Amino acid sequence: MVVGGGISGLTVAHELVAQGADVALFEAAPQVGGRIGSEHIGGFLFEHGPNCLVAPAPAAQALIDDVGLAHQTVLRGEAVRHRYLVRDGAVRSLPMEPYRLLLSDFFSWRARLRLMAEPFVPPYAGDETIAAFMRRRFGAEFHDTVMDALVGGLYAGDPEQLSVSAVFPHLKRIESEAGSITGGLIRNRLRHGKSGAGNPATRMLFSFRNGIAQLPVALASGLGQRIHAGHRVESLQLRAGGGFRLRVEHRGQSRSLDAAAVVLCVPAPTAARLLAPWQREGSEALAALAHPPLAVVFLGYRALDVAHPLDGLGVLAPAREKRGVLGMMFSSTLFAGRAPAGHVALTAFVGGARAPELALQKASMLREQVHEEARQLLGVARAPVLARVRYWRHGLPQPGLDHAARLEYLGEIESGHPGLFFAGNYRGGVSVANCIAAAAQLAERIGDSIREISPVSARAPSPAAGTASAASPAMR
Ligand SMILES: Cc1cc2nc3c(=O)[nH]c(=O)nc-3n(C[C@H](O)[C@H](O)[C@H](O)COP(=O)(O)OP(=O)(O)OC[C@H]3O[C@@H](n4cnc5c(N)ncnc54)[C@H](O)[C@@H]3O)c2cc1C
Repeated sequence: MVVGGGISGLTVAHELVAQGADVALFEAAPQVGGRIGSEHIGGFLFEHGPNCLVAPAPAAQALIDDVGLAHQTVLRGEAVRHRYLVRDGAVRSLPMEPYRLLLSDFFSWRARLRLMAEPFVPPYAGDETIAAFMRRRFGAEFHDTVMDALVGGLYAGDPEQLSVSAVFPHLKRIESEAGSITGGLIRNRLRHGKSGAGNPATRMLFSFRNGIAQLPVALASGLGQRIHAGHRVESLQLRAGGGFRLRVEHRGQSRSLDAAAVVLCVPAPTAARLLAPWQREGSEALAALAHPPLAVVFLGYRALDVAHPLDGLGVLAPAREKRGVLGMMFSSTLFAGRAPAGHVALTAFVGGARAPELALQKASMLREQVHEEARQLLGVARAPVLARVRYWRHGLPQPGLDHAARLEYLGEIESGHPGLFFAGNYRGGVSVANCIAAAAQLAERIGDSIREISPVSARAPSPAAGTASAASPAMR
């Protein structure tokens, strides 16, 4: 039984079905997708959560092929030529080629000399925060102006708190293998050429014609009757003879179900609640993982009302700029079909670890605040023609220096309770592509054990639980 129909749960279910397993997926919301949601409004396309995937992403691309969605793929627009950052109150393009970066006046002379010294900084084997890692390797100015903005924009996170091994494991790997990041990137470029997979400037962003939600929709359609949307798993207990007993609520009525194997693909705070009655320490370890609130504000403008050419991915703001947004994505530049003709679309991110209280403001205040940022930074002259807000009360997981111990502990819980598995963005990386890769790997690992454990039938609803809805084939 898979609990949670976000991209992690859907991928696990899809892969297990492909292996011939008998699967039922329970999703609390009326529809699957979790953080992924694409909404069409008046010719605009509002992505409630993720906007894009980053290639190369072999597991995601294999899944997309498998569900027949490859022909719906859209690539990053040709007009995406810049990465903008806010620097001293102004929007500035960050040169992506190292030599251009060193020649430009984006950084002070001191900072540029410090960047050039990176190859001579000795590697450090242990874990550290992203801020400590970046300051040690590249100096304070690079961290405070570039990395802080990137971590805020991509992870809604605080680099002073996040573990570099958990969030950027590839950087730690490059450091330990090549002795320096610069050396590792040069080596990668010599090996793979300018468009090498490791070159961040050339990594390709992609989505689908009608939004990123086409992927969960396609997965759900393949899983058909195995999906039980609107079914919230309220509790999870161990059965005396092995296996699990779940209490599932649907339309105000609840009933008990027994399962030989359970894959928890819910966010960490929910997994913590489900474990609490019988796995206190595991529950506390998951509950301690912060998920600060995040608000997504979507604004549609007439193109003529925006002075900035929006010829980039978007603009990110480091904490020291004290802006009301973490960043704004130029959604209609990023992919075609995100705004009607003559219009542009911006997607702003507010709150996160940097300013969680801002994400909890009233929608009208958020719309006003982001419009004011767009006015100051991008020269927007008139009010938006469309404005929408999506709140994420529990935003993205923020793995700190205690995260490795948490993951180790989760592995021990799995070993101690055969048939119980965990998947989700707190385990194998937050991006959609990472979630897919980790879920596919997990499905491979659990396929055999699920097949080995004979299915346990669903119990009749208890009298106190009221009338149960008709059991689906997968519940039988
Ligand atoms: C605003 C935002 C922007 C993002 N941008 C990007 C991006 O551009 N690119 C990218 O790669 N990633 C991005 N991400 C990250 C990525 O979207 C998520 O990490 C990923 O989608 C998480 O998938 P998941 O399946 O692990 O979890 P979720 O999507 O959270 O799915 C968990 C599911 O479990 C269900 N559930 C919860 N409790 C229960 C219960 N008791 N019973 C049954 N079901 C339950 C939930 O309803 C949900 O459907 C973004 C995330 C956010 C929030």
